[in-house]
Amino acid sequence: MVAEYRETGRPAPAVFDTHAHVSARAFDKDRHEVLGRARDLGIVFLEVGFNEDSSRKALALAEEAGGFCAVGIHPHDAMADESLEARWQYIETLALQSPRVKAIGEIGLDYYRELSPKKAQADAFVMGLDLARRHRLPAIIHQRQCSWDVVSILEKHGCDIPLVFHCFSEGIDYARKCLDLGGYIGLGGPLTYPRNGYLRDMLKFLPPDRLLVETDCPWLPPQSKRGKRNEPAYIMEVIQAIAGVLGRPPAEIMKLTFDNGVRVFAIGEGEW
Ligand SMILES: [Zn+2]
Repeated sequence: MVAEYRETGRPAPAVFDTHAHVSARAFDKDRHEVLGRARDLGIVFLEVGFNEDSSRKALALAEEAGGFCAVGIHPHDAMADESLEARWQYIETLALQSPRVKAIGEIGLDYYRELSPKKAQADAFVMGLDLARRHRLPAIIHQRQCSWDVVSILEKHGCDIPLVFHCFSEGIDYARKCLDLGGYIGLGGPLTYPRNGYLRDMLKFLPPDRLLVETDCPWLPPQSKRGKRNEPAYIMEVIQAIAGVLGRPPAEIMKLTFDNGVRVFAIGEGEW
């Protein structure tokens, strides 16, 4: 269905949305159009899985569309009937199946909704980190209202792999800790929300070579699309917001974040 994504007429990739869920059900009716809008703007994205089924779909979409993906178990999905070991084994088979798998994630902790018990979340997180380290893949970290627990697990279980702190919504102190761990900071829709001045302050503090952009679509649309479904094409509003805060041309932010994404996910030139 999406095979023509890589056919003639596709502009060279210029913007890298490093965190999307286009294989989610929210796109079942018009995925083809969503991919077309992204393609027309030169936007490529990393499709991110959050459990076994969505990781399988993420890989299928990456293969079909000529893109890339991450496979993992989200803290919300940490609790299940099947053992975590068996579930991570399945994720590992996906990771070994294709060079299009560029990261393990999303993994982490979420105490805000706590849809899985904290212990299960921590176990799943540590297993995900182990898998990433075994295969020398970056880990995409989800964290919500649990910040320092994420950091202490990362400190305890090593962080000798690249870390991507996705949908970053913390202040400067926490950002400093993530940068000390060698982490990259993913910024998306929340940066554009009027009440999030603290995020824009944090952005000014970030070293440019650690900055990534993302949509986390279908969730977290930028300000002008609030209340609607998000999609990769809307990443441009995040780029504009960053450009405004840093006083730089949008084209420069596009190139900077694109190059950072290519570097952290180790995407080779001929792989697009
Ligand atoms: Zn996500």
